[in-house]
Amino acid sequence: MIDIGEILRRELGSERVLLRGDDRLEPYGRDESPLPQVFPPDCAALCDDAEQVATVLRLCAEHRVPVTPRGAGSGMCGGALPVRGGVVLSTEKMQRILEVDADDMVAVVEPGVVTGNLAEAASAAGLFYPPDPASLEYCSIGGNAATNAGGPRAFKYGVTREYILGLEVALMGGERLRCGRRTAKGVTGYDLVAGFVGTEGTFGVITELVVKLLPKPQGAATALAVFADVAGAGACISALLRSGLRPSVLELADRASIDHVRHKSRYRFPASAGAVVLIEIDGDPEDLQTQIERIGMACDEQGAVDVLVASDAAERRGLWEARRLISPCLKEAHTIKVNEDVCVPRGRIVEMLRRVDRISADTGIDVAVFGHAGDGNLHVNLLSNDDPGDPAVRAHVMAAAHRLFVETIELRGTLSGEHGIGTSKRDFLPMEQSEALLEWQRKWKRMWDPLELLNPGKVIPDGVSRCSE
Ligand SMILES: Cc1cc2nc3c(=O)[nH]c(=O)nc-3n(C[C@H](O)[C@H](O)[C@H](O)COP(=O)(O)OP(=O)(O)OC[C@H]3O[C@@H](n4cnc5c(N)ncnc54)[C@H](O)[C@@H]3O)c2cc1C
Repeated sequence: MIDIGEILRRELGSERVLLRGDDRLEPYGRDESPLPQVFPPDCAALCDDAEQVATVLRLCAEHRVPVTPRGAGSGMCGGALPVRGGVVLSTEKMQRILEVDADDMVAVVEPGVVTGNLAEAASAAGLFYPPDPASLEYCSIGGNAATNAGGPRAFKYGVTREYILGLEVALMGGERLRCGRRTAKGVTGYDLVAGFVGTEGTFGVITELVVKLLPKPQGAATALAVFADVAGAGACISALLRSGLRPSVLELADRASIDHVRHKSRYRFPASAGAVVLIEIDGDPEDLQTQIERIGMACDEQGAVDVLVASDAAERRGLWEARRLISPCLKEAHTIKVNEDVCVPRGRIVEMLRRVDRISADTGIDVAVFGHAGDGNLHVNLLSNDDPGDPAVRAHVMAAAHRLFVETIELRGTLSGEHGIGTSKRDFLPMEQSEALLEWQRKWKRMWDPLELLNPGKVIPDGVSRCSE
């Protein structure tokens, strides 16, 4: 039997390869997904550069060892988990920002760069990197590209895909490939960048990214509209979508979400708050006041109990801090927190919220809903304080998740708006996609990775593993 850890140590140096028995290996068997199991890898290779990434992929192909790419491990659907063992290939040490070019309006970065650091570097150059997953203080840009991450600002600015102009990837077998461009436009050849973005590390390992930057908005204003219930908040979001106003952010939080952050948040939510809508606009400071007033009036017309407009940067930060605390606070308070991120067409948001209420009532599972409601993307958190190790408890929660997916598809929605499929939603994918479509995706995957060694067991169900061939 081959010892891939020792083989990698010989090539990369022992300090870059963590072996079984080393406590530092333990985190590489987990991510932020609610899966009860831990999947310990045989070893983790902490690569410093693209050459080392290619070496790992060459040796794993040669020795038929599965390899799982990993950024910061903040993924919520088990994409970075080595479910078939083998090697975890971590890009966490590849943190160099190689260029921020204000004239070309691009940044060139390594995949392990923390998203918030990229945003700060862009800002220091007077530019703007819009995608802002709530995990931006620790997730990596490589992981964001691999999952096509979204975030609150996706409402106005779109998701990660729209900001990745070019990529360098290392393929299974060790070949390195550059695709895409540095220009604002370009239609030469097939769009392989779009092919790699969002494929959750199943086609290749991203080793460098050319990222599009925008001019920095000159100002921003933030408001919080408070509603008696989630139905009122949902109706207000629908009205704002039709109003012609153009917020950069339109986020929802229901009563359960609010109640969980009250004790930690600097912002004091009114006791009557049954749901809130966080609204932000950005642009020319001269227009901001008029615009935010119009938004406030629209919320009043929709029955808002209160509309608070942040008067300074500290108040804005307080509101955002409260928003970002929701997920961690829900996690802290429950033994089981399954965060589904279904997305429905914008016209069905109110109906979806109604159905989520019904699912909770019918199944007895507590639910907290928050998220990017302006995009129809709702983080529906299924919560329990029962024993997570009890299969009956998990089956009960997963039955509620199944029902959520059924309702989502019925409303012509999609199972994941931004977190991806990974391993935790893989078995549900046939609810949304035809067998023919799944089969074409399997063929596509095999073109890049014929032995199915790269991130096996992810995204597309029933792919036959060929690791032992
Ligand atoms: C509190 C919290 C809030 C979150 N909020 C959001 C949000 O608002 N929007 C959102 O979209 N997501 C959100 N997420 C989910 C998560 O942060 C994103 O999916 C993020 O893009 C994952 O990045 P990562 O570096 O942690 O990747 P990982 O978790 O390490 O990996 C995720 C996937 O990407 C692959 N991958 C990682 N790096 C590479 C690479 N270099 N090449 C090829 N494949 C690679 C992995 O194999 C895996 O399939 C949140 C998570 C948490 C915990």
